[in-house]
Amino acid sequence: MHLKIWKAHAATGKRRSKQNKNINTNMAQEDLFKKIVAHAKEYGFVFPSSEIYDGLSAVYDYGQNGVELKNNIKRYWWDAMTQLNENIVGLDSAIFMHPTIWKASGHVDAFNDPLIDNRDSKKRYRADVLIEDEIAKYDDKINKEVAKAAKKFGDSFDEKLYRETNPRVQEHLSKRNELHERYSKAMNDMNLEELRQIILDYDIVCPISGTKNWTEVRQFNLMFSTEMGSTSEGSMKVYLRPETAQGIFVNFLNVQKTGRMRIPFGIAQIGKAFRNEIVARQFIFRMREFEQMEMQFFVRPGEELKWFAKWKETRLKWHKALGLGDEKYRYHDHEKLAHYANAATDIEFLMPFGFKEVEGIHSRTNFDLGNHEKFSGKKIQYFDPELNQSYTPYVIETSIGVDRMFLSVFASSYEEEKLENGETRVVLHLPAPLAPIKAAIMPLVRKDGLPEKAQELVDALKFDFKVQYDEKDSIGKRYRRQDAIGTPFCITVDHQTLEDGTVTIRHRDSMQQERIPASEVASVLDKEVSMKELLKKLV
Ligand code: ATP
Repeated sequence: MHLKIWKAHAATGKRRSKQNKNINTNMAQEDLFKKIVAHAKEYGFVFPSSEIYDGLSAVYDYGQNGVELKNNIKRYWWDAMTQLNENIVGLDSAIFMHPTIWKASGHVDAFNDPLIDNRDSKKRYRADVLIEDEIAKYDDKINKEVAKAAKKFGDSFDEKLYRETNPRVQEHLSKRNELHERYSKAMNDMNLEELRQIILDYDIVCPISGTKNWTEVRQFNLMFSTEMGSTSEGSMKVYLRPETAQGIFVNFLNVQKTGRMRIPFGIAQIGKAFRNEIVARQFIFRMREFEQMEMQFFVRPGEELKWFAKWKETRLKWHKALGLGDEKYRYHDHEKLAHYANAATDIEFLMPFGFKEVEGIHSRTNFDLGNHEKFSGKKIQYFDPELNQSYTPYVIETSIGVDRMFLSVFASSYEEEKLENGETRVVLHLPAPLAPIKAAIMPLVRKDGLPEKAQELVDALKFDFKVQYDEKDSIGKRYRRQDAIGTPFCITVDHQTLEDGTVTIRHRDSMQQERIPASEVASVLDKEVSMKELLKKLV
C-alpha cells in the first residue's frame, strides 16, 4: 500500500524519476507493445471489458488462456508465501468494509490526485503528470545532447565530465531543476493554485486541443463509493477497497489469536482492488479494477529494518526465479518517505514502455494498527511472551499487482522469431509452470485409431496437468497455435505409437523433437512444468 498522499509523491520524486527512465521508449517499442496487446486479445488472454458495448475504460476481462496464466501467477505467489513459510497464513477478507476503516487508513482524506480539465477538448488530466511530462522533456533534451556527443567522440567520451561542463546541457539542467523545485514545493504545500500557475507559466498545452484553456486544479479522491442497505432502513456510504491490506490489519487479532501466531508472522491475501484512476493507460498496467497480492509481516518494534531487508531480497528472488532475465529487474529505493514509513522500495520491471513498478515493499511502522486502535477504540496489541510485554507490532508489507505481474510475464515472453526457412513464428516463452496449457496432445492424422490413442494419453495426464487435445489443421499449424499461447510441449501420436508405444515430444523454445515412450511423458512434464520445481528455487 502506497498511499497517494501527494505530499509523499512530490517528496520522493517517484513519478518523475519513473518518467525520466521512460524517455528511451521509441517507436519500435510502441509498435511491439501494440502487437502484444493485440496478441493478448487474439489468443484469448485479455479482452477489453464490455467490448460489444464499445468497452469500459481501463477495465479488462481475462479469457480462457489469460485466466489460467493469472491463476498460475497467483498460485506461485500463494504457495511461495503460505506453503514455504510456516509463519505465514492466508486470509480472504470482504471487499466491503466498515467506512471508518478508510478514515483510519488515511484514504478518505489523502488518497487523492490533483486533476485539471481543458475547457476546449473537455479532456481531464492529472496536473502532476502534466508537469512531470514537462520535466521529462528537459531530461530528454539532455540525453539527446549526451547521445550525440557520445557518438561524435567515440571511446574517448567522458559522459560524466560532459554532463557537468557542457553549456547546453547545463542550461537545460538548470531550467529542469528550477521547474522541479517549484513543482515539489507546490506538491508539498498541496498548493493547487500554484500547480495551475506552473502549467500556465510553462505554456503546457492540452495535447488534444493544443490550448491553455485550463480549469482550476481540484483534488480527486480515487476511491469508488456506493450505498449499502435500502433507503427505508437508512443506507450507509461504503467504499470499494482501494487495496487489500486494510482487510489484513483489521483481522490481525482474529488471525493471531485463532491461529495462535507468534511474532514474527505474516498474513497473505489475494483480492480485487478498485481505484478510480484519472489517467488510465498502458493496457492492464493501470486499471480501475485490478487484483493485488499483499502480505503484511508483523514484527517486534526495532526489528523492522532487518525484516525489510530480508523481504526486499526474498521478493526479488521470487521474481528472478521465473527466468525472465535478471537484467530486467531493479530496485527503486525511496529516498524520502511518507511520514508513516521508515523504509520503502519498489521492484521495477522492464516493460515495453520502460522500467515500471510491479511491486512495493514498505516498512510501515505501527501506523496502521495504531490508527485502527485509535479509531475503533479496541486494543490491538500483541503480548510477546519472550519479552513479557505488550506492544503494537510493526509491519513490513509486500504488495504486488497481479495484472502488472501478468503484463511483465506476458510482454517479456513474446517473441517474433525469424526461422531458418525465412518464416516468422510468434512464440510466447512463458515460464513453463505458468503456461496455461502444459502440453498439447495431437494425433498426426484423424484416422487409423490415432485420435483414440491420443485421447487415452489425455485421460492419463489430465489429473496432474492441464493438457489439451488438438486435432484440427496440419501439424505445422497446430505447433504454431500452441507456440502462440506458450504451450511448453506438443506431443504427437503417430503410426509408430501404435507399434511401439512411443510418441514425439516437441519443445516449444528449441523446436527440437525427440521420441520417448508414452509412459514417460508424465515424468518429463513433472520435471519441466510443475510448480514444485519453481518453488524449489526459492529455498
Ligand atoms: P502507482 O504509483 O503506479 O500508481 P502505487 O504506488 O500507487 O502505484 P501501491 O499502492 O503501492 O501502488 O499498490 C501496490 C501494487 O498494486 C503496485 O505495485 C501495482 O503492482 C499494483 N497497482 C496499483 N495500482 C494499480 C492499478 N491502477 N492497476 C493495476 N495495478 C495497480
